[in-house]
Amino acid sequence: MYPRGPGLSSRWNVNPYTGTMPRASIVTVCGAVVALALGVETRPAIGQAGTTARNVVLFVGDGVDDHQLTIARNYLLGADGMFVFETFEHQAAAKVLTVLEEDPHVPEYVGDSASGGTAIAAGVVTSRGRIATRAGTGESVPTLLELAAGAGKRTGIVTTSSITDATPATFVAHIGRRFCEGPRDMLPTPTDPRCPQDLKANGGPGSIAEQLAVSGVGLLLGGGYEHFDQPDEAGVSVLRRAREAGYLIVRDAAGLREAAGDPSQILGLFGDDTLAVEWVGENGGRARPIQLTVGGQVIDPAPFRCVDNPRFGSRPTLEAMTLWALTRLESTPTGFFLMVESASIDKQAHAGNPCGQIGETRALDQAVRVAVAFQERHPETLIVVVSDHGHSAQIVPWPSLFVARRSEPQYPPGKVARLRTLEGGLMAVSYGTNTHYLEEHTGTQVPVFAQGPGAAPVRGLIRQSDLFGIVRRALALE
Ligand SMILES: [Zn+2]
Repeated sequence: MYPRGPGLSSRWNVNPYTGTMPRASIVTVCGAVVALALGVETRPAIGQAGTTARNVVLFVGDGVDDHQLTIARNYLLGADGMFVFETFEHQAAAKVLTVLEEDPHVPEYVGDSASGGTAIAAGVVTSRGRIATRAGTGESVPTLLELAAGAGKRTGIVTTSSITDATPATFVAHIGRRFCEGPRDMLPTPTDPRCPQDLKANGGPGSIAEQLAVSGVGLLLGGGYEHFDQPDEAGVSVLRRAREAGYLIVRDAAGLREAAGDPSQILGLFGDDTLAVEWVGENGGRARPIQLTVGGQVIDPAPFRCVDNPRFGSRPTLEAMTLWALTRLESTPTGFFLMVESASIDKQAHAGNPCGQIGETRALDQAVRVAVAFQERHPETLIVVVSDHGHSAQIVPWPSLFVARRSEPQYPPGKVARLRTLEGGLMAVSYGTNTHYLEEHTGTQVPVFAQGPGAAPVRGLIRQSDLFGIVRRALALE
């Protein structure tokens, strides 16, 4: 059984997981993919509803590649399982294109959330660290959210990171460096000018938090209180700026529930920075370097399971935030653009914590299920699930495939965790991208899943930046 149940009684009867292993098997009947599952509901085919969408829910799984997905799928659903978005009719692989800041004609082969987010949000291939601005020139480029707002649609951002973090920022803000999140981050140091061109005193738009505070985005839900609780260049707190601009500020799940009335703009700051993850390894289980016996034999890492994070706190889940957002946006006659990010797949992979990233992938799946239930009621809704870049974790054989052929010990050079999966298997996950305590992004292509009007161009091998045009055309945005 999953340690943390959905914890939310949904008006759309969203019940993502049951206590039994789903063991979904997929068969094709009359050209339609049908999920035959124990405990997983089958869904009617959606996606033939024309090419123009009124609403878009764009999910970003941060750091999701095929390997990160497979790790989470194996653990949660079994090796033959499927996440709900993996049953979508339209799927593609997206090339992650990034360029050098110093020479934008030269490729960089590993991206980050800023360059990946800018490609998706604004359709521009840029350099790492840039938020909706062009490499080299710094020119601002319009985003899907801005174009949707300009067309009269309501807008929203939901994330488990700080809402000033790179992925959410690329949809709303424009700045040269992703780390200029609050006014304090803008101040130059003796060795780093930071973001001088973006200071208001120099005619710039200010830090990311300052830009969000006056963005007019209808709902901003995530972490990042510490980036708003700072004085701007005029000595006024960014929180006050946000209130003056019409935002109601809430700090926990109870506050969000009580805000079900109608402030037209809501700023939910449910943590100082990144929100606490849902899952951790039992008994502190995480990936660790391999130990050898005195005689030089490999010691098998003790297997562990994933359990609820005791420090989860009072923040709403990603599923709850997504449901809250869709409930608020449901009656909007002009439609809406909503971006939902599951951020800590990336952050927990950096930390070599497989349970953290699996729990966050589960949160993504639960949130997508909420959107699918919404789409069943509102078929004029396009759902797209994308990723910004690849990450570090790999499933490796344990013991090594070559253990019988060599006399010396055989084991991965990085860190390894062995997980006891919910279907009773043992899965070894290796992190070996850096000797530093943090793991690296990787340069692979990433998966895309889409369902609903306008989803058909999501097929084959596309560029990440093509997603901008696909969503723009689906919403018929000028
Ligand atoms: Zn990262």
